[in-house]
Amino acid sequence: MKVLVPVKRVLDYNVKARVKPDQTGVDLSNVKMSMNPFDEIAVEEAVRMQEAGTATETIAVSVGPAKAQETIRTALAMGMDRGVHITTDEDLEPLAVAKILKAVAEAEGAELVLMGKQAIDNDYGATGGMFAALMDWPIGQYANTLAPGEGTIEVKREIDGGLQTVTLKLPAVVTTDLRLNEPRYASLPNIMKAKRKPIEAKTPEDLGVDTTPRLTIVKVTEPKTREAGVIVETVAELVDKLKNEAGVI
Ligand code: AMP
Repeated sequence: MKVLVPVKRVLDYNVKARVKPDQTGVDLSNVKMSMNPFDEIAVEEAVRMQEAGTATETIAVSVGPAKAQETIRTALAMGMDRGVHITTDEDLEPLAVAKILKAVAEAEGAELVLMGKQAIDNDYGATGGMFAALMDWPIGQYANTLAPGEGTIEVKREIDGGLQTVTLKLPAVVTTDLRLNEPRYASLPNIMKAKRKPIEAKTPEDLGVDTTPRLTIVKVTEPKTREAGVIVETVAELVDKLKNEAGVI
């Protein structure tokens, strides 16, 4: 089956996010950017499917500025076959990304779209569901284990309190959770090889997708800093503090 993996370039997960002074968003100037960690897991899974012979072709797609090419190159260095770069300087909303992914999935004839459960920059966790709805495809969210079958894929999903197993009829969408696999590091020869793999560039306009924003960001603020905790000596002291200081019991 042909597998499409959307990969987003985001703030590296080790970097502490700083809010821009005008509170319009997160300051991305001069900070390390990387592939969204959940997307790395999706890439790893696609490459493993290719190695196992269940994926016939693996395509990485990224929607973003010129530098998003680096993210596609990382996916290619991990072992994916080729890339599609949808160029835009806007930080697009999930619905716009989902519409773009629909156009790409249709053009490519993708049978499985493996994506992250959420992008760690905005934490929307919305694109997978919107994309599945636009395609009218089944979706298995928060995948812990995947088992491709004949025209189907079995997904063990992480849910509150355990794992739920569902079988999806292909074509389908799967979103990855942390425990699905541990992504590999790209080896130097594979990084070199990836430089020769093709990346096709298009714009949202080429795909006929209207990306006009529908949301207005009112303001972005830092989370409140947490006050330091205290260690209590006895249960009685804890109960007293909860009752008389915190007022929660
Ligand atoms: P979100 O709904 O923004 O939390 O993103 C969920 C998933 O959608 C990500 O893990 C990616 O797989 C995919 N995605 C979101 N935005 C983009 C983008 N700009 N380019 C490629 N994939 C994206």
